[in-house]
Amino acid sequence: MSIRILANDGIDKAGKVKLESQGFIVDTNRIEQADLPSKLHDYDVLLVRSATKVNKEILDAGSNLKLVGRAGVGLDNVDLVHAAEKNIKVINTPSASSTSVAELVFAHLFSVCRMLQVSNRIMPAEGNAKFNELKKLAANGTELKSKTLGILGFGRIGQEVARMAIGLGMNVVAFDPYLEKADIKLSIHPAISSDKYSFTINTVSKEEVLKQSDFITLHVPGGKEAVIGKNEIALMKDGSGIINCARGGVVNEQDLVEALKSGKLAYAGVDVFEKEPPVYEDILKLDNVSLSAHIGASTKEAQQRIGEEMSDLIISFFKS
Ligand code: NAD
Repeated sequence: MSIRILANDGIDKAGKVKLESQGFIVDTNRIEQADLPSKLHDYDVLLVRSATKVNKEILDAGSNLKLVGRAGVGLDNVDLVHAAEKNIKVINTPSASSTSVAELVFAHLFSVCRMLQVSNRIMPAEGNAKFNELKKLAANGTELKSKTLGILGFGRIGQEVARMAIGLGMNVVAFDPYLEKADIKLSIHPAISSDKYSFTINTVSKEEVLKQSDFITLHVPGGKEAVIGKNEIALMKDGSGIINCARGGVVNEQDLVEALKSGKLAYAGVDVFEKEPPVYEDILKLDNVSLSAHIGASTKEAQQRIGEEMSDLIISFFKS
């Protein structure tokens, strides 16, 4: 009998085609969270991104479930303990989105350094009337070259960000409690031999990173406690910035807004929120914040890599 897969948050076409070519049935019609328990018994595999919550109720309802696939990095929307108790294997695709998330960090950085977020909000309606005003507002732009980028969390995405930062001529300092150093190979461009251009970055204390950096970017797992709150912000340089493309809650949103309003921090770039959609709306209304709606992995390239990697993992799970 064919194996049935529910890709409830979608799957890239390339991955779907690969699975179907191997005889799997892939259903991409989204079922709302509340209706999932009554419909899940038909499926052997549940594939999700971050929207569908694979909680105890869902796992218990999936009487035929053998595999849960999380297309992406974070597994915080899957009850891993209960899945293990029910002998349901959980797989994810941790590396496929690193480049996309790292590029989004720089999209936010470039934006806040030149106030593009304000120009983009105002110019469509008032670009003519307020042209000179906007020119003045953004007159004090900042270059990234030669600035210090502090990276908190030096895993896959943190190291990809470091690679790009070095390419831009930035200094990089990093903190990771579980990593002493990392070799950053500049293999971004095929013409650059990665062996020839490689930097070893020794991690330093969190305090050092906070004190030295012009911008801090976070690439830590989501957790219960914020990695940056008012005590950490107090250690940062006046007029510095924070980018959060990791997980909502790793930066305390109220403390961030307070620091941006007081001028202690000059910029922020925010892709992820404590609650999604955001309920603390103050963070959405500041001129010095560049915003996106949790789109770190949302590129065609990342989704294709995720779809292909996920389909390979599913095929090999059922073959073995
Ligand atoms: P990773 O596991 O490769 O790296 C995380 C690193 O953080 C590890 O090296 C770990 O040792 C370190 N770490 C753990 N606790 C820390 C702490 N308190 N302070 C500093 N470092 C700490 O993970 P990754 O693939 O690099 O992903 C990083 C984050 O990006 C995750 O939270 C992931 O969910 C998020 N992410 C977001 C998007 C998005 O759409 N915005 C997309 C993909 C991943």
